[in-house]
Amino acid sequence: AKRDGRGVYRFFEVQMGVAVREKRLLENDLRNALARGEFSLVYQPQVNVQSGEVTGFEALVRWTHPTRGQIAPSTFIPVAEECGLILNIGDWVTRQACAEAAGWANTVTIAVNVSPVQLHAPGFVARLRAVLQETRLDPRRLEIEITETALIRDLTRTIATLDEVKALGVRIAMDDFGTGYSSLANLRAFAFDRIKMDQSFIRSVDRSDQSAAIVRAVLGLGSGLKLPVVAEGVEREEELEFLRHEACAEIQGYLFSRPGPIGDFAAVTSGRSRS
Ligand code: C2E
Ligand code: CA
Ligand code: CA
Ligand code: CA
Repeated sequence: AKRDGRGVYRFFEVQMGVAVREKRLLENDLRNALARGEFSLVYQPQVNVQSGEVTGFEALVRWTHPTRGQIAPSTFIPVAEECGLILNIGDWVTRQACAEAAGWANTVTIAVNVSPVQLHAPGFVARLRAVLQETRLDPRRLEIEITETALIRDLTRTIATLDEVKALGVRIAMDDFGTGYSSLANLRAFAFDRIKMDQSFIRSVDRSDQSAAIVRAVLGLGSGLKLPVVAEGVEREEELEFLRHEACAEIQGYLFSRPGPIGDFAAVTSGRSRS
């Protein structure tokens, strides 16, 4: 067959059509998902490297589509952000996670991912305050995780919003640290409580001099700024050994546990795992 430029162009046109249609379909189904109770939360333990104790959990949303089964957050969160549904989904996640955590042993913390779209929407702090009052969760046990993309827009307003969040007593973690723009400037401009080091740096930290140098540098930065560092995506014993040796505060990852339904962690949430 003749492969001219036009054929290639048509091919992309068709592919784009599929992508757009797929997005519309997802968006449609997302609109009903909350009301139909298709969302759930799984929880991943955050573990103190020195003591081995679980200090808290990160809540991660799951969507079970009626015909397509599990759809990954990396697929539907961007669609939800684009059409604004992330506001309702985000409110549901926060309320659900806080209500759950309010029933745990009162030392165990809960971390919730907050999309930039949520953070910048009017009334974000007021809704957060309402959820805390409604669930009676001690605000000091809640941490919101935000990525650097949230910090690009309107610096002055973002600082004001995060200051209001902190005034509630809620803590703030910088998520995926090292993958965004101008990470260092952001650490200075915003009052973060913790750094979550992206899993791409942890992967094979024991086998790559470059990764090792970056991880050491981030841990040094955290220690200098008095910001505890959580290492994400720890999968292998050798990675944990490296992090322990370099005095990383906490880890999350498949090595300790995959995210799971909260019932899987009853010993921790009830406080029974502490002697
Ligand atoms: P994230 O906030 O960086 O979350 C960490 C992701 O890494 C989670 O994927 C988690 O399951 C996965 N993970 C944890 N340990 C390991 C490990 O050892 N190895 C590997 N390969 N992966 C590990 P998940 O649950 O698919 O979430 C993906 C992203 O979707 C999250 O990245 C976050 O950006 C977003 N997301 C998830 N839940 C929510 C939510 O409730 N609200 C918002 N706005 N975003 C969410
Ligand atoms: Ca996160
Ligand atoms: Ca992360
Ligand atoms: Ca991420």
